[in-house]
Amino acid sequence: MEKQLQELKQRLQEISTINGATAVLGWDQSTYMPPGGAAARGQQMAVLGRIAHEKFTDTAVGRLLDDLQPYAESLPYDHDDAALIRVTRRNYERATKVPAALLATIYAHGAATYQQWTVARPANDFASIAPALEKTIDYSRQIADCFPGYDHIADPLIDFADLGMKAESVRALFTELRAALVPIANAITSQEPADDSCLKQHFPEAQQLAFGQEIIKAYGYDFQRGRQDKTHHPFMTKFSIGDVRITTRVKEHDLSEALFSTLHEAGHALYEQGINPAYEGTPLNGGTSAGVHESQSRLWENLVGRSRTFWEHYYPKLQATFPEQLYHVPLETFYRAINKVQRSLIRTDADEVTYNLHVMIRFDLELALLEGKLAVKDLPAAWHARYESDLGLRAPDDRDGVLQDVHWYSGQVGGVFQGYTLGNIMSALFYAQALQAHPTIPAEIGAGEFGTLHGWLRENIYQHGSKFTANELVERVTGGPLTIAPYIQYLRAKYGELYQL
Ligand code: ZN
Repeated sequence: MEKQLQELKQRLQEISTINGATAVLGWDQSTYMPPGGAAARGQQMAVLGRIAHEKFTDTAVGRLLDDLQPYAESLPYDHDDAALIRVTRRNYERATKVPAALLATIYAHGAATYQQWTVARPANDFASIAPALEKTIDYSRQIADCFPGYDHIADPLIDFADLGMKAESVRALFTELRAALVPIANAITSQEPADDSCLKQHFPEAQQLAFGQEIIKAYGYDFQRGRQDKTHHPFMTKFSIGDVRITTRVKEHDLSEALFSTLHEAGHALYEQGINPAYEGTPLNGGTSAGVHESQSRLWENLVGRSRTFWEHYYPKLQATFPEQLYHVPLETFYRAINKVQRSLIRTDADEVTYNLHVMIRFDLELALLEGKLAVKDLPAAWHARYESDLGLRAPDDRDGVLQDVHWYSGQVGGVFQGYTLGNIMSALFYAQALQAHPTIPAEIGAGEFGTLHGWLRENIYQHGSKFTANELVERVTGGPLTIAPYIQYLRAKYGELYQL
């Protein structure tokens, strides 16, 4: 067994090395690459992606996994080797069930559709991209059909991002959440909106970046194993456990943009930096699901970074950084500004309370598109109808309607949105557990110290990488299944106090 295990690890190491190199190219593409490099870069990444895929789907890998199966079964479930073999087999089955030719077609189609979208959105021209979207839906169905036996056609697509979740289980959670959220959102938005003009003054870029970096350093983000650069859309990327990078976007007339995207991406990065170093070069070396990943970014961005205790410590420092702008602004005004709740048209700008309503609209529309109950030509109208019923707003055009998110125009419809809301739900669930284990955490946050919280997350979530699924992690941490209760409790407590609900 030892020999086979070594061979499997060696093969996986090589694939992980190629994937790491591809990620470097992707990071460079989004940060420093001159426009002239675009065509060749696309080719470079496609070739590396193909080589990694070929190496992973090699029948020799399947044979090794078969040979190692009895060994895996002889081990406890949480043994590292058992987890390695289990997760590799799962990925292998996914990778081999979809024909390589179909994958290549979808990859090319996704890249072309994305290019079209960059033109169609500013031109407010949904009609021009509708045929490509129809094809995308058809391809997404074909992918799902590579995994027969599903209850809902979206199940395999949801499973890729959030293993173990299904259309029905997500729908049930979302229905419950919506019933709880809508009254909170209504009660808040019937009041005078918070004044956030203090955030819209001029804040020079260099100080903004330095301030955000000071916070994430205190969070525990290791700049010896990471760095921050600027991009059009903020993201986190990983080349190895020793190199986990984040990006941000600075608006000199909106303090919240760089600040909260920095805290958000740092949350993703803390997760990746905290994975057991022994998993380097294996499929265990990565966050376990879209939802769990988002739970970490949301936890550090919102539950910590938008809390009053946090700003009791950091606001005087922020005032010292921007004395002209903030000296006369009281903490309470700033706190209300960064937690302003407002019905809006754009998901990425939405606050904690209304954000999930945006996600649910997309999730339901995706399911309807895949089921064939909604035609692409009727999508813009369906979008407007849901925004009117759920948020009481109607976008003036498709640019801020059905064209606003890149997700559907990047090669897949289905499974791409639920992770955001699952992440919000899990962020409160995990945070409540951390507080239960260490009631001193809020006081520490009030002193600008995050070691206990970071340590708890590393111990209970980060170190495991992909060893456990999201459902297993939740079960291990809370002793029960995923529930929205702590999230609703969190929102009611925080916004109840803010808005006297
Ligand atoms: Zn995120």
